[in-house]
Amino acid sequence: MAQNQSTKKYEWNLEPILKNKSLSWWIDEWKKTLEYEVQNINTFCNSLNTFEKWLCNIKSKEKISNVIANYVSNHNYENLSDNKWIELQQQLSYIGKKYEEKLANLTHVYLKNEKTIKEYLANKKFQNYQRMFALIFREKKHILPLEQEKLWTKLTATSYGFNEIFLTLSCSDISFPPIKDKTGKEIKIISAYDLIKYMESKDRCLRKNAWITFHHAYYQYMNTFSKTLFNNFLNANNYAKARGFKSYVDEVFFNDEINENILFSIYKSVENFKSIYLKYKKIKKWIYQKILKINDIEPWDLTANYLKIENIMIEQAKQIVLKALVPLKEEYLTVVKKAFAQNWISFLPKKGKYNGAYSIGRTFGLDRYFILMNFNNSLDAVSTLIHELGHSVHSYFYGKKQNDKNNSWPYCDADIFYAEIPSICNETLLFFYNLKKYAKNSTIKKYLIMQFIDNFFNCTTRQIIFSNWEYAVAQDINNEKTFTVTSGLALYKKLIEKYTGLNEFKKKDEIYQYQYSTIFRISHFYANNLYVYKYAIGQIVGLYVAKRITDKEMLKRYFNFLSSGSSLSPLETIKLLGISLTDKDIYIETKNVISDLIEELQKK
Ligand SMILES: [Zn+2]
Repeated sequence: MAQNQSTKKYEWNLEPILKNKSLSWWIDEWKKTLEYEVQNINTFCNSLNTFEKWLCNIKSKEKISNVIANYVSNHNYENLSDNKWIELQQQLSYIGKKYEEKLANLTHVYLKNEKTIKEYLANKKFQNYQRMFALIFREKKHILPLEQEKLWTKLTATSYGFNEIFLTLSCSDISFPPIKDKTGKEIKIISAYDLIKYMESKDRCLRKNAWITFHHAYYQYMNTFSKTLFNNFLNANNYAKARGFKSYVDEVFFNDEINENILFSIYKSVENFKSIYLKYKKIKKWIYQKILKINDIEPWDLTANYLKIENIMIEQAKQIVLKALVPLKEEYLTVVKKAFAQNWISFLPKKGKYNGAYSIGRTFGLDRYFILMNFNNSLDAVSTLIHELGHSVHSYFYGKKQNDKNNSWPYCDADIFYAEIPSICNETLLFFYNLKKYAKNSTIKKYLIMQFIDNFFNCTTRQIIFSNWEYAVAQDINNEKTFTVTSGLALYKKLIEKYTGLNEFKKKDEIYQYQYSTIFRISHFYANNLYVYKYAIGQIVGLYVAKRITDKEMLKRYFNFLSSGSSLSPLETIKLLGISLTDKDIYIETKNVISDLIEELQKK
């Protein structure tokens, strides 16, 4: 039974964000900094003095707008139907938009004054601003004349359209018929989440119906999805070419400061997981045969959740987290304790609250790094807690380091390229801790190992298949090749075989074909940021770091990494861990960890 958790103890305390001032005071201050920019946009380069004041104002603006954004959006996510916060958010976005238009020529002004700014930056005092301006100046080749930029803003207002169409169809317009359980009782389905839940059921009939209904729902719209995706990639490629890039992927590589070879090298390294992948699939099937007492294991049997650990109280969860993170030493644990003591976390589900979990972004100027989650007393919820704490403690360390430097630009950010590393590292440490804790209970132990390996392959092999598919399709469309549902599915199956060695596509019954519609409903494909392979980076590097964290040298490097924020390029940031993504070692070592766990599964 869940404890009476309706206590303030498990709610976050957002008030300290405002530092005893009212929200309207902060909004007025924010407007002043924006007004300052408008007044000084053409003169800030006149002298070293005006330049310094300009930079100072940018920093204030950043801090103030982060205070406002975090205060308002966290309140909003706590109750998404509370009009007070919805209206406030709209008002703020109108103010932001108004000034954005007034400051539309800022990048042009920076580029026009490149020589002068570089002279100023040579001054030791401004050393830390160099990366910030280098990132602006490298855009030079891709910036359009001002009039064209204005037109661009209007035309590209619809560029999110494909994403919106995708989300509307896949999340709200799509509907699911009721399904039956083994007694013949009909169950109403409200959202895809219901089906995912029923796919874990102990009732085989219910699992099967949920599995088929889920995949069929997307399968029937494959034509609409593929047309939307075709136009999305066509559009993204054309926009990229208009700015002087070879293609959409070329533009993303530029933004991420990487090149194609790194992507291919990651693909190749993950392809080498094929042998352990196949081995694991066989063992998992064998274990499920024994546990479920079924000989002919079907896809919907492998989603069954036969063991649920669901009686963990929040206070216990906190203790588990603190024990699991002991290898990160007191310096790290102190921050986690602070998060608990200062109520950074909104733990409990409630009406209107966002149903996912997050740790806040835009943290420069803040000293509390809030987390929203929906704790449900399960082991998964403990995992979510430790994952989000990974993000918050990361923010804490770069916030502390980057704020220390007086005249520095605050690189208080984590690029998606490496942002998941601390969270995966924490999750892995929790897994290692639980393995020890349940060492004598082979059922729980095997269950935890399978959950861990499933998650590992979901983030590596599966995401790399998706990524390779996205890369190939986007490039094909850029090279004026045709793209249809048939060609998209054929490529997907070819890549599954390439990365997993599995070749089970020829089952006669059409229901087995439904699952391949998955490739058309990957939301990141519609957001144009070549995202999904970054999951694999987070997983592989996070696991590698966790495995070696007891090594003093690695621990030292890890804190350096946590403190660096976005002060270096993504690849340089990862190098602080002593890791190069093109180096084979990290893949071999992670493969060995998984291999050893597979061996464990084979034991009695
Ligand atoms: Zn995360």
